[in-house]
Amino acid sequence: MNEIKRIALVAHDNRKKDLIEWAEWNWNILMKHQMICTGTTGRMVEEALVRKSGSPESIRIRKLKSGPLGGDQQLGAMIAEGEIDCIIFLWDPMEPHPHDVDVKALLRICVLYNIPTACNRSSADFMISSPLFNQRYEPVTKDYSGYSKRGIDIN
Ligand code: PGA
Repeated sequence: MNEIKRIALVAHDNRKKDLIEWAEWNWNILMKHQMICTGTTGRMVEEALVRKSGSPESIRIRKLKSGPLGGDQQLGAMIAEGEIDCIIFLWDPMEPHPHDVDVKALLRICVLYNIPTACNRSSADFMISSPLFNQRYEPVTKDYSGYSKRGIDIN
């Protein structure tokens, strides 16, 4: 991954305040990178960064569908295609959601593709303050080609 990261940002409703505070605190770092967000999170992060920077034209943020409407799955597909470098995913541990299966799928695909994943604010702080955040980094990827080529006996 390059110096400029493609950062996915997602927060469930009860965690949005946390994510917005975090984004406001880190606005000048975030603005050097590209952000990809689920719909509502993206709108709120964008508003926060405009407030902090006063410079809407320099914010690179792509808004996908809202999480329950398929946004988490869109992110999962982007990860499988190698289009996301890291993710901050503040999911709500206290309430069930209509798209719980999508949340589980997204977390699974993050692990499968060895994507740096922060699920709470401290992890997000550690991630963004890592020297690796602003430099090139080659994650070790596991070779799954054997799995794709496996033989299946259908007799
Ligand atoms: P939202 O989706 O950013 O559109 O609220 C987040 C989620 O619930 O996964």
